[in-house]
Amino acid sequence: MALITNAIKGTLDTLPSSSYKIQYIEAAMREIAENYGFYEMRTPVFEHTELFQRSVGETTDVVQKEMYTFKDKGDRSITLKPEGTAGAVRAFLEHGLFNEAMPQKIYYVTPCYRYEKPQAGRLREFHQFGVECFGAGSAAQDAEIIILANEVFNYLGVNNISLEINSIGCPECRKKYQEALKEYFKANYDDLCDTCKGRLEKNPMRILDCKSPVCSKIAEKAPKILDYLCEDCNEHFELVKKYLTANNIDFKVNPTIVRGLDYYTRTVFEFVSNEIGAQGTVCGGGRYDGLVEELGGKPTPACGFAIGLERLMLLMDTQKTEFPERKKCDLYIASMGEQANIKASALAADLRNEGLSAQFDTVGRSVKAQMKYADKIGALYTVVLGDSELESGRAVLKNMSDGTQAEIELADFTDNFQSIVIKQAMDSLDGYGIEGLEITDILGGQN
Ligand code: ATP
Ligand code: MG
Repeated sequence: MALITNAIKGTLDTLPSSSYKIQYIEAAMREIAENYGFYEMRTPVFEHTELFQRSVGETTDVVQKEMYTFKDKGDRSITLKPEGTAGAVRAFLEHGLFNEAMPQKIYYVTPCYRYEKPQAGRLREFHQFGVECFGAGSAAQDAEIIILANEVFNYLGVNNISLEINSIGCPECRKKYQEALKEYFKANYDDLCDTCKGRLEKNPMRILDCKSPVCSKIAEKAPKILDYLCEDCNEHFELVKKYLTANNIDFKVNPTIVRGLDYYTRTVFEFVSNEIGAQGTVCGGGRYDGLVEELGGKPTPACGFAIGLERLMLLMDTQKTEFPERKKCDLYIASMGEQANIKASALAADLRNEGLSAQFDTVGRSVKAQMKYADKIGALYTVVLGDSELESGRAVLKNMSDGTQAEIELADFTDNFQSIVIKQAMDSLDGYGIEGLEITDILGGQN
């Protein structure tokens, strides 16, 4: 029987000791995306199963093997989203965003669900940050989203991540290519896995993305799409490369990238690391000009990408990337007796109103135990309040990092506290670089 205190296989908990890292990553992504004019769209975690069958594609691994599909109590087939694009396109159509200023640029941060074999970098519940742009078919737009993804990695200090790009053409150039592929794979038919045998007639390009070792070995020598691109697609691809070069973005053309989802056309790309094992693709994306129409809209060019947050985290942890520290407790107010404890709660409220982090005792512990707690949680300053402090209106503020003490008046406590903190910082910096310094800069942590 499943142990109820064990999380479901392939899922991860993010504890308070590390959640600040993922919050930092997400905040950076949101800010960068908004600098490019992408705004957040939130869509439900489940959709009609058919939406994914139609968009991701019937012959993809995701639809054939990986979806969490179930009947709800009304006997409808529901699927937990395996990726973020389908829901975004559905919402784009449902809310008539095509009537608004084009291009429409959106981003999302969402959990995704795929029934895969859990291993490093491969989970059953994972998270994606993604962007989608509707209504721009240009190479400039492809390049812009690649530049955006690249900026995210640069900003976060991720190293050794390489950009690989390819073009998988349009339905026109693919006709000839599909024929060539069929011919090639027919010659190797007996060695293909059963799923790929079934794909041969319906969608031979999917075989190129099969994870089975035998199929991928066969796929290595298959005809390459780049040799079959029509003139327009070829020109488009050349132009994407020019934009990337002009933006000083290094890339490698990898003619074997086809991506795992059926909706891609023309430009496809991946950001890959070789430092996190077999699951090295941290970001995947590309153009999908046919999808909006496929789901019932007017023909609308579109492109996007998704970054797997857990894989990114894995890479950053492997590279020991530095993160800004978690917000700390600026002041712990220890108290003796009920009156002092009530006063502590009021002072904490004042400090919090100024954006400072303050805590006081809610357990009824001895002062000694309170100070031990303050030390454990890494409080930057402490103050002790008892009857005599309440009577005199003065207390002693202790700087926990160097043990220095200063007298502090309880009247206008928050102002006094800030003045003392700033004075101590000035003294320690000898005035150097203090200009424009905010109290929250001194106290540190993410704000
Ligand atoms: P892969 O080839 O590794 O299976 P994919 O082509 O299925 O990836 P996409 O559908 O393009 O992946 O998803 C975009 C990104 O989401 C991936 O590059 C990866 O970072 C992340 N991702 C995909 N599947 C998983 C998973 N099962 N667990 C964790 N992250 C994942
Ligand atoms: Mg996959």
